[in-house]
Amino acid sequence: MAERFETESRKLLGRLRDAMAGDDTGQMRLDKITHLIATSIGSEVCSIYLFRDEDTLELCATEGLNTEAVHQTRMRLGEGLVGKVARRRKVVNTANAPQEPGFRFMPETGEEIFSSFLGVPILRLGETLGVLVVQSKQSREFSTDEIYALEVVAMVLAEMAELGAFIGEGSAMKARHSQPTMLRGTVGQEGVAEGHIWLHEPRVVVTNPVADDPKREIERLNEAVEEMRSAVDKMLVTAAVDKEQAEILEAYRMFANSKGWMRRMEEDINSGLSAEAAVEKEQSLARARMGQATDSYLRERLSDLDDLSNRLLRILTGQGADTGAEMPENPILVARNIGPAELLDYGRKLKGVILEQGSVGSHAAIVARALAIPLIVHVERATLEALNGDHVMVDGEQGIMHLRPDEIVVNAFRDKMAMQAAANERYASIRKKKARTLCGTTVGMHMNAGLMADLPSLQGSGAEGVGLFRTELQFLIRNKMPKRSELSAFYARVLEAADTKRVVFRTLDIGSDKVLPYMKPNDEPNPALGWRAIRVGLDKPGVLRMQLQALIRAANGRQLTVMFPFVAQYEEYTQAKAEMEKAMERERRLGHALPSKVDIGAMLETPSLAFAPLKFFEEVGFLSIGGNDLKQFFFAADRENERVRRRYDTLNVSFLSFIERVVERCAQTDTPLSFCGEDAGRPIEALCLASIGLRDLSMRPSSIGPVKSLLRRSNLTEVRKVIMDARHRGDMNVRPAILEYLHRQI
Ligand code: PEP
Ligand code: MG
Repeated sequence: MAERFETESRKLLGRLRDAMAGDDTGQMRLDKITHLIATSIGSEVCSIYLFRDEDTLELCATEGLNTEAVHQTRMRLGEGLVGKVARRRKVVNTANAPQEPGFRFMPETGEEIFSSFLGVPILRLGETLGVLVVQSKQSREFSTDEIYALEVVAMVLAEMAELGAFIGEGSAMKARHSQPTMLRGTVGQEGVAEGHIWLHEPRVVVTNPVADDPKREIERLNEAVEEMRSAVDKMLVTAAVDKEQAEILEAYRMFANSKGWMRRMEEDINSGLSAEAAVEKEQSLARARMGQATDSYLRERLSDLDDLSNRLLRILTGQGADTGAEMPENPILVARNIGPAELLDYGRKLKGVILEQGSVGSHAAIVARALAIPLIVHVERATLEALNGDHVMVDGEQGIMHLRPDEIVVNAFRDKMAMQAAANERYASIRKKKARTLCGTTVGMHMNAGLMADLPSLQGSGAEGVGLFRTELQFLIRNKMPKRSELSAFYARVLEAADTKRVVFRTLDIGSDKVLPYMKPNDEPNPALGWRAIRVGLDKPGVLRMQLQALIRAANGRQLTVMFPFVAQYEEYTQAKAEMEKAMERERRLGHALPSKVDIGAMLETPSLAFAPLKFFEEVGFLSIGGNDLKQFFFAADRENERVRRRYDTLNVSFLSFIERVVERCAQTDTPLSFCGEDAGRPIEALCLASIGLRDLSMRPSSIGPVKSLLRRSNLTEVRKVIMDARHRGDMNVRPAILEYLHRQI
């Protein structure tokens, strides 16, 4: 790039910085900026358009157009050339604007005499804040250097907007982060909460976008890149990385060594940006491209680049994840993603969690459930929009986050919270009561658990016991395999907390979506149908044996209940049971106390087990229907795939008939049967399950109140009749009939 150009650019940025430094109002600053840019670039017009709301741009300052149009001229996203720049996040450069497709004539601006048009988006981290435009009478296309200069200026404007430099007059100039915003995502855990934002990784703030000494800035950049590069190299050498992690690190290394990336940042610095502003400029462009890339490989690489840029920014600004900021009252955690161990570290302090990524079945989601705090996942832009301390209302029923809510939202939301509190009070009043229906049937209410954090709920929820203890969570939240002694101490604490209540320990259920971070992942074409759960336990019995030993030792003479996951055929159960017997024998020989009684059961999660020989039903101690897996195999619909997951309803008559068949077979052999999938915690589903004969349900603790409350108000004989009638009519799904019946009851 020509040296003269770089010197000019640096001069312009220096002037912009000075223009920012005074005590001027936001409007005066904008006016000065447009004047400076127009003079420096030698164009007759320079205008700044900023977003007034999500999809309206407003002319906020101009040099060269009619000043009466300022704050009057508005266009929607995508409308006219300015709207086009904003929507596409791309430069529009034309010698003949009126001829350009999409051109919209705005008479109040007096722009008809200007033929050339150059518009660049004002981007910050891939988000469009506005559009910077220069126009001139002479019909010509702007040069690459001019475009570049304008992009650099736009970058500085974005940083200044971020710092609130344009706050003051005109509604469009309110700092972005002071406006109420509503963001939508997917419900991970129901519940509502009001609190203040706590960013897991606070955004890096660049306070010095302009720098005078490019040589020094390039040195700083090189030093930071070197520091980051050696950290990545070290990770590659020392960490016990698997193939996939190594590939990611290689991609990191590729960028860290990328000449193109470095060269662009050096050019940015030579044009007057500071090292951190240069990193952020390239990061913003990469994010904008990421939003448009359809190729998944390219998207992943751009996302690597994004992560790398964040690291670099942290090194350059010295802003670590821990900024020393104090956690606000009622913190609502906002993160791009978070691991289960990190979430557990925050523990019960948090009132809610919002993630940009994550998934409903993720382990962080399981932890959020254990902590009984609302969780919303897939909330795009949450980390961009939220600032530490911002007021926020989390609607975990609808999957909505109200950021900096206005008074109307606050009032409506507080009403909703009051209603929920009233419902919780009602549930608390029946906590000690049985789930006895109007027709005199009692349904056992148990809870699902897996973490220490779950245990206080044993008392609080009114659960009669733990119907499913997911032991894999202890394996998943660690970064190395737990030792037998650690496990046994943990199980003992669980049994002590449960006191006389029964705890059904499910042996390790890994594979499919549950991959242990320290175990080599299997390259399976279809992991949900692959080497998982008891299949792993039987093929490689080392861990299963260790776990059974830990359980026996934890019981220490007390009663012990063990359940094997994902048993698809009779032999798998007998083999697993034999492992338990062997473990007992071994412990006996070693002189350890044996449990007073051992109850061994299996999960029914594949349709095949429902048709196992009657002998299996006679032999098995108890069965628990794992509805989450069973449903995915019954309908052949991946439980993790949002697109197909919702397609099939639990109240579909085929599925209910199938469950009924299992109930009948268990009744024939007097085999105790329970249901521990998510559906057990949904009141209407639970009501139907009870009415077709299930007498024990296990669910998340927070669901016990609502389910029990509905059961206590229901007559199962009537509900069963509604189901039968719907079937006879040939309904595909009994839900409409049940809902209609329930409405009649109210
Ligand atoms: C199930 O499949 O229903 C179940 C309870 O097990 P998990 O959700 O842990 O696979
Ligand atoms: Mg399962």
